[in-house]
Amino acid sequence: MSETILAAEPTIRLAAFLGILVAMALWEVAAPRRRREIPRVIRWTNNLALVVLDTAILRLTFPILAVGLAVMAEERGWGLFNTIDVPVWLAIVVSMLLLDLAIYLQHVMFHAVPGLWRLHRMHHADLDFDATTGLRFHPVEILISMGIKLAVVAALGPPAVAVLLFEVILNATALFNHANIDLPRRVDRVLRLIVVTPDMHRVHHSTDPRETNSNYGFNLPWWDRLLGTYIAQPARGHEGMKIGIEQFRTRRDLWLDRMLVQPVRGPASGGALDPRLTNKERGE
Ligand SMILES: [Zn+2]
Ligand SMILES: [Zn+2]
Repeated sequence: MSETILAAEPTIRLAAFLGILVAMALWEVAAPRRRREIPRVIRWTNNLALVVLDTAILRLTFPILAVGLAVMAEERGWGLFNTIDVPVWLAIVVSMLLLDLAIYLQHVMFHAVPGLWRLHRMHHADLDFDATTGLRFHPVEILISMGIKLAVVAALGPPAVAVLLFEVILNATALFNHANIDLPRRVDRVLRLIVVTPDMHRVHHSTDPRETNSNYGFNLPWWDRLLGTYIAQPARGHEGMKIGIEQFRTRRDLWLDRMLVQPVRGPASGGALDPRLTNKERGE
């Protein structure tokens, strides 16, 4: 079973990724939520080139990725679920919930620690918000994320299928909740009870620091609501809000070479613990 999962993993992931990316791109053309500020060709070329670079660096750096480690942990009896006797369905559900909580907490940490915010703010520096924004992460952030995920998998010993499902779903929801699509308000209201919607995550891409430092969930919306980081709507409305951060606002900043050096340029302002933010901006 685990060997089959491992063999099928690249095909499942690539097919899901491409299928959902194309679906979102078509949806964005049919029913856009906001007017584009930047020609799509500049952002798409550079954001997609970054994905290719990130994937290559990740594969070259780590000898084993999350699903592979889950298979190995199963074989060697590592981690919580490989030492206690619980039904597989329960192990799958709890593992997926805990992996999602770990990703949420990691995201909060990347906003709070100035050095990590320097890496993560590249995700926020995109000047429009569409499906490809959901893929825009600095390679060093990708490596740190994978290190954290591997540690969680080693400690938890989740079923391999839970890790594969989690990664495919997270990839799909990241494309969906960054998409520039106009969901009917009623649909959004119901949908955001179970999954992070584009209107919910767009708040996180506002230049207003109070809004940037909220709505950290990528997949399940519950952590933000439970842990007090939820903001329902942007103060200036979805059409009126400014997307991005205060730094890196030229078109040239959207090019791949500039994205890669953003962590070492300028001050680390705008993160969740930035002392220059007023209490109101920080949401206190
Ligand atoms: Zn963020
Ligand atoms: Zn985002």
